[in-house]
Order: sequence, then structure tokens, then C-alpha cells
Amino acid sequence: MADPLVAYSWQMNQWQDLQRLIESGRLPHALLLAGPDSIGKLRFAKALAGYLLCESPGKLTACGQCRSCHFQIDANHPDYREICPDEGKRQIGIDQVRSLQSFSAQHAHRDNGRKLVVIHPAEAMNVFTANALLKTLEEPNSGTILILVSHSSSQLLPTIRSRCVQLRFGVPDTSLAETWLRDYVGDAALAKKLLIETGGRPLAARQTFEDDGLAVRQNFDAALSALLNGQKTALQVAEELLDKDILQVLDWWCSRLMGLSRHQLAGHELVAESWLGFNKLPPNTVMQTLQRGLELRSGFSRGVALNKRLILETLFLEWVALCRRNAAS
Ligand SMILES: [Zn+2]
Repeated sequence: MADPLVAYSWQMNQWQDLQRLIESGRLPHALLLAGPDSIGKLRFAKALAGYLLCESPGKLTACGQCRSCHFQIDANHPDYREICPDEGKRQIGIDQVRSLQSFSAQHAHRDNGRKLVVIHPAEAMNVFTANALLKTLEEPNSGTILILVSHSSSQLLPTIRSRCVQLRFGVPDTSLAETWLRDYVGDAALAKKLLIETGGRPLAARQTFEDDGLAVRQNFDAALSALLNGQKTALQVAEELLDKDILQVLDWWCSRLMGLSRHQLAGHELVAESWLGFNKLPPNTVMQTLQRGLELRSGFSRGVALNKRLILETLFLEWVALCRRNAAS
């Protein structure tokens, strides 16, 4: 069946949970799909929308044949809206959300009578936009179902969260993720490595494969080693990384610190051997540095105006100072 109508293999538990709600007539008018990014929540939301719009659904799937399914496959269903930041923007505009009020007020085009709205990621709404959405959430039109997708649901207004039924998604089962990725990259060992690098998130792993991200990360590791060996200064390393995508740099930084922390606290194997050199740093220090990295990553992904050069320079200067201080003590 066509992709937009099917959830991923590792999402069957959530899919069946929803089925039970639908079959018992308790389908909520607002759902929040919450969990880490790059694990396929948006695909789940689209598949669910397709299923709810389908004019002759099967037990667990849309039929794939009806007029509604064809509209959904062609991404032009008149009773479906997708709200996300416009290209080049990080925030959802208030006009985008206001337009939902008229969409929700109008009659459905198809006989099914439902209208579906997917908003992703929901944390891309600022407080004004979120308040505009509350209007739609508080006056549920009988036929309109809202599906919010969030990678960071703690950032949502409590008034938004409390009006949605929340469905949690975690990092998928390793064997399902490995099988799926192996079919895509054509190599089981590579699939495994990509998943380890991306914390088990399949779509991030596929993206890393497509961007040749393993090589990029190895280059970052090499730059960091050169910094510690004194072959490069923190300012030089920051300069080298300045033209890279800051989210990619911070992803690498945080995943390496996370790996180091797991190695120190739970004996997990390190993905990047060069990081063994940092093993003697106090675990507390590693955790604090990781926390700072995650905050920066979250800031950049929310579009907070941050000075990239200054942040990279500070990050590496502090790291070198920590390592030297620790080596001397
Ligand atoms: Zn159908």
C-alpha cells in the first residue's frame, strides 16, 4: 500500500491502541503524538489521517482505493490540512493557525464527514499562535480532528497538552529498526552502525546515510582530537565547523557526550574510539556539558537567535580547559 497510508512497522502498538479507541467510539477530537524526533511520528499522523478519512476502511488500514485515499496519496485531500513552519522558517505563523478556524467551521467535502488537521512540530507555535489554536481546540467542531506532533511536548502550553489525548512514542525496537534500515542501505553492519550513531532513531539514521554523515562525524572527531593534541586551537576548530549545519554539529557533540556518559556509568561500548581519551573526566562534568549541549540544540532548533561562532568557540575553549585541568590534577 502507498506510503502515506501506512504507519511504520515499529508503531503497531500505538496503532492498535488507537484502533481500540476508535472501535469503542472514544476517538478524541485532539491527539498529541509525543516522542523523540526522527522516529516516524509524522508518518503515523498522516497514516492515521488517511485511515480516518478513508471511505471504506478495513480493520486496521485504509482501503487505498477510494476517492479519499487517492486524494490522500496525491496529497490534495480537501478535508485535510497540514500545518508546519513555512520553508526557511522555524515558527508556525499565526495566520496559518487562524485559517484553521474557517476550515473547521466549513462542511466536509467528502461523505465521510471528517476533517483532519496535522500540526508539526507543535512546539513550533509561540505563545500567541498556541493561544490562537486553543480557540479551535476549545470549540471542537464535531467533524474536525486535530493531530499534534511534538518532539518536545514539555515545551507546549499546559492548556494545549491538557486538551489532547497523548500517545507516547519511544525509540523503536532495535531489531525492527535494523531490518527496516538494512533494506534501505543494503548492509546489515552499516545499518547497525548508523542506528548506534543516531541513538536508535531510524529516520535520523537514514538521513545520516544519505548525507554521508558517518564521514562527517569522523571529521568532527578528528578535529576534536587535533584540538586536544594541541595541533589546532579552539578558535580554529570553531572556524572549521562554522559553515556546517549547527544542528548537525550539536547532534554529534551531544551524541558523543551521551555515549561517553553511558560508557562511564554503564560500561557501554564507545562509538568513537578517539573519545576514550576523555574517559577520565568526572562523570558529573560530562553530564553538565551534555546538558548545556542539549539546551543549545533545543535553542537553535526553536530558532532562538544565537551567535553560532561565539557558541562554538566557547564550547571548545571550555572543553579544552576542562580536559587540561583534569589532566593536571
Ligand atoms: Zn479508502
